[in-house]
Amino acid sequence: MFHLSARRALALARAALLPPVDLPPQAERAMRAQHDIQAERLLPLLTPLFGLVVLLFSLWDWQLDPQRAGTALLVRVAAVLLAGAGYWPNRLGWGVTTRCTVIYFCHAGAIIVCAWLLRPGLPYAMGAIAASLFSMSVVTLRLRSFLAIVAAPSLLFVLLAAQQLAWQDFAACLVQYLFALLLAASVMLLFRRFHQRAFLLEQQLLHMSHHDSLTGACNRLYLEQVAERELALAQRHGRSLAVAMLDIDHFKLVNDNYGHDTGDRVLQELVRCCQGALREIDHFGRLGGEEFVCVLPETDQAEALLCAERLRASLATLRMATPQGPLRFTVSIGVAVYGPEHPDWPALLKAADEAMYRAKNDGRNCVRLAGEPPKQAAATPPAAGAGAVLQST
Ligand code: GH3
Ligand code: MG
Ligand code: MG
Repeated sequence: MFHLSARRALALARAALLPPVDLPPQAERAMRAQHDIQAERLLPLLTPLFGLVVLLFSLWDWQLDPQRAGTALLVRVAAVLLAGAGYWPNRLGWGVTTRCTVIYFCHAGAIIVCAWLLRPGLPYAMGAIAASLFSMSVVTLRLRSFLAIVAAPSLLFVLLAAQQLAWQDFAACLVQYLFALLLAASVMLLFRRFHQRAFLLEQQLLHMSHHDSLTGACNRLYLEQVAERELALAQRHGRSLAVAMLDIDHFKLVNDNYGHDTGDRVLQELVRCCQGALREIDHFGRLGGEEFVCVLPETDQAEALLCAERLRASLATLRMATPQGPLRFTVSIGVAVYGPEHPDWPALLKAADEAMYRAKNDGRNCVRLAGEPPKQAAATPPAAGAGAVLQST
């Protein structure tokens, strides 16, 4: 039977609360932005809901103090209408924290002022005031924003309580309020921790679903998505775009002569080298096996050929240390440029593939352009022969 000892409970609590999730600053900003968008979407739903609750309290007002319930209702209606300002974020240019501050100030402020107006006084509304604090622990992930949102109604509460209550009652109310505030802030921090973990996990899953596990290059599916987007942009803005397809020459021989683990290292080394040689805006992905694709936005034919040649040359000069001695390998590259002959991604990829096979037929270790007339074997640059691919120099 499951036995929850004090030590186990403590360990569970520590696991939930500690250690803090260490998100890199960029991921932290992305997480907050994502949460802000979610909170922003929630506000149009939450604001009328809060407003309704605040207005429903007026039924209780009539029970408690019928004489002043009318005045309290006016305060409630005015506050709920004012809170509606939080609905028009674009017109007023407010961020989500400002919108929450306004909405919360109006709603919590209405509860506090009405409780102060009515005869039983503020202590009767402590439950509702505390509950409203907790509602704010889910709308922000920043302690600073949380404190900024609750600051003004808290001040209002303290001022009105100090004015209305004897010091013992005031102290009791203040302790209750501070306790609720502390608890709500803790809930907010805990919520933030959970959110950070979920965000981190989501990012890891996203990365795994977009990248090849062996080499870290984009996988075929993600590359296709990226390429389609880049093509749409190139089409819309009338910009050039090129694709280069790389295939390792005689890779089967690498596996056969050096083993699969060395073959895997070759793939990893190729990706590292290509990613280092490409621009930030380029995309590099593994199509499958030992075939790779570069998507080169804003690149015309001449630039694409230069880039492909640079990649080919830098890969050909790589020397990998292996137990059997240094290993060198070469690649054949096919280049295709976006245009009327290749108007979409499948056509562009097919053209690059055909050009790459032409490079193979022309002797390997060379670059060929789609649509180019066939050249003689060992044309520019000199191609390595089948045996020259695996050099132990
Ligand atoms: P070519 O110059 O004509 O391209 O010859 P090739 O030997 O490179 O081409 P082939 O298609 O005959 O062989 C590709 C090899 O790539 C066969 C396969 O075992 C190997 N390969 C595919 N994926 C991986 C991988 O992830 N790791 C390793 N080590 N080898 C792989
Ligand atoms: Mg190959
Ligand atoms: Mg191949």
